[in-house]
Amino acid sequence: MTRTEKKTLLAIGLSAGLGAMFLLFNRSNDGNPFEDFDMAGMLGVPRGGPWATSMPDAVVLHESVGWDIPGAIGAMRSGGYGVHWLIDGEGQLESMVERNRWAQHVEKASQRAYGIEVINPYQWTGKSWTESLPNVLWPGHNYTLPTNLQLMRLWDMLENSGVRPVGTGWERDMPAGPGIYAHAQLTKPGKHIDGVFPLLYLQARFAGKDHEAARAEAIDRWKAKR
Ligand SMILES: [Zn+2]
Repeated sequence: MTRTEKKTLLAIGLSAGLGAMFLLFNRSNDGNPFEDFDMAGMLGVPRGGPWATSMPDAVVLHESVGWDIPGAIGAMRSGGYGVHWLIDGEGQLESMVERNRWAQHVEKASQRAYGIEVINPYQWTGKSWTESLPNVLWPGHNYTLPTNLQLMRLWDMLENSGVRPVGTGWERDMPAGPGIYAHAQLTKPGKHIDGVFPLLYLQARFAGKDHEAARAEAIDRWKAKR
């Protein structure tokens, strides 16, 4: 190795080290696993406030308000609701509520849970943007699957979040504790039915399956309601 080569290697090593330190420093700002998903252009919500506890410990998955992010935000705001992040069909992420505030998005659990909205107009039978399955939670209707890009984005957000899916996906009116829930699990029978398929998919991803295998397993479990 020549002197110049040694110098170059040293420079590369130093900058890589500094880069890693910068990344570590950046990531440990407040210890929140969702720091990477902080976004500009916060839109605010009518109902909500600063978290009562120092850190929320739950995530609630939602589906189906509107066909796109502006439509979903409009519908939620007019009802006084809000979620922290929305994922559209292309896997694009938008933030509606600041990370340090709670918003009304699920009855009892809103003050301890982040809300993530997977834009999926699944209750519409006339138009489907992906594959449709029979809706086992709403007999006589179809369930439109989230897109691959949406599911992958969801995994990307939650993989290192420190929280894991709770329950089987089919429970109703569960008490919320730490973890990831489908909205359907936290409401009484006959109310909301959203979030179950994304939860089944995440369960398979946390169990070590890749995207395709997890999606296939979630479809099987959805059809058999198990
Ligand atoms: Zn919901």
